[in-house]
Amino acid sequence: MKFHILIFGCQMNYADSARIKAVLLHCGFSYTENINEADIVIFDTCSIKQKAEDKVTGKLKLLKKTQKIWITGCMIQHNIRNWKLKVDKGKWIMKIWNFGGSIKSKQPTILWFSTEEINHLKSSEKSSEILWVNNAFNPMFHNILQKQKNLELMRRIDDTGFLPLMLQKLWYKITYDEGLINEYEKILPEQNTSMNTTHSKTAYIPISTWCNQFCSYCIVPYARWLEKNFPVEHIVEEAKKHIQRGAEEIVLIWQIVNKHPDFVSLLQKILKLKGLRRLRYTSPYPTFYSKDLLHLHATQEKLCPHIHIPFQSGSDKILKAMHRWYTAKQAWKFIDDIQALPRKISITTDIIVWFPGETEKDFNDTLKLVRHGKFDMIYIWIYSPRPGTYADKHMPDTIPYATKHARRNKLNELLKKISLANNKKEIWSTHTVLINEQGTDFLSGYTEHMKQVLVKGKAKAGDFVQVKMSKWVPFKLYGEII
Ligand code: SF4
Repeated sequence: MKFHILIFGCQMNYADSARIKAVLLHCGFSYTENINEADIVIFDTCSIKQKAEDKVTGKLKLLKKTQKIWITGCMIQHNIRNWKLKVDKGKWIMKIWNFGGSIKSKQPTILWFSTEEINHLKSSEKSSEILWVNNAFNPMFHNILQKQKNLELMRRIDDTGFLPLMLQKLWYKITYDEGLINEYEKILPEQNTSMNTTHSKTAYIPISTWCNQFCSYCIVPYARWLEKNFPVEHIVEEAKKHIQRGAEEIVLIWQIVNKHPDFVSLLQKILKLKGLRRLRYTSPYPTFYSKDLLHLHATQEKLCPHIHIPFQSGSDKILKAMHRWYTAKQAWKFIDDIQALPRKISITTDIIVWFPGETEKDFNDTLKLVRHGKFDMIYIWIYSPRPGTYADKHMPDTIPYATKHARRNKLNELLKKISLANNKKEIWSTHTVLINEQGTDFLSGYTEHMKQVLVKGKAKAGDFVQVKMSKWVPFKLYGEII
């Protein structure tokens, strides 16, 4: 059986997909880069924006009728959040409830296609021993199945460790090591890439999963509920394996990466690994920074001098409405602390414009924060509500989408000016660049500050090269290999 994985969304999905690949290879399946050759096409989905879900629906239509479809990831998880089984007067019934938690049993009962199975369940069965797949709980399964009869499997990403059991239930003839039937974080990808790089020098490692910060605009907590931190020893072991296989850049990932209770000691342990060249992490949350973490940035050369810190707004009123638990003053102070470090750190951020209730004054407060932060890059999101979130239910979004563009453009113009001024300072400086892509005229790569550089010279994806910067434009530098 040949499979192909289509990945949508963030680095977490790339890392998840690497684990799916590891399990399936272990079960005797083979991976193909060519989607047309695949017997099974796996969709690892995202739900952060409606656009991400639409992309999946569009791709589904393009598959051949003979190709089996499997769907996993955030898109299905937030769609099943409203269903849960409960025992009532000695009988199992479906209750509207949030969906979350991990399976404790190594041989869970797999609930499959019909509610009949639910009726046959003994009331003594614990919900932590039941694994829900396909339409047992998901109305979305029925909707897709109506148009795509080849839909075979829809399941939570967190149940990847139980894939062999699901395959058996689907009548695939597989052999597997029983020790593999385990929790998600114990599956080690067999390859040293997260599947999204053009080379194997970068490895992305998830250090926790889910998020329960519940920012009012965000769908993630509904898709990936209840945070779960992976043990430090396990993460370090995974980093070691990647390095042994040739990785030189390790990227630790999670939605709130610095909330891991042992984050600083984890970084310290990984920094000691022989063969490591660069250590990065993304994305942190402002209030989970500690002095120790900033100290590491100042003193550890291998810890990249770049912090991507999503501030989202510079207005206290809007931060409060967003349920972001810091003030604008704290954001300014945090920037001051970074800029005061003896090592130059590049700062990038995320900003949402036109959050409900954002006045001209609130937006100006954001512009002030941006000027103060001198950010090298901002990922700007024009607010649009995600169904089911707190903001969607309680904060009417009354501004027409077309009107919202003016603020986005104004912010972007400011960012361009700042980026141009920042990049100008880099002229004639030399940086180590990790080459990611071979373009027609230029190679493309990133410095340790995560600045994109278009490079002239001979090298290939995965090479670290010394580059002298010779030209600057907003968001990009040009340089030559020396
Ligand atoms: S920290 Fe907030 S924005 Fe980020 S994933 Fe969690 S809830 Fe969403």
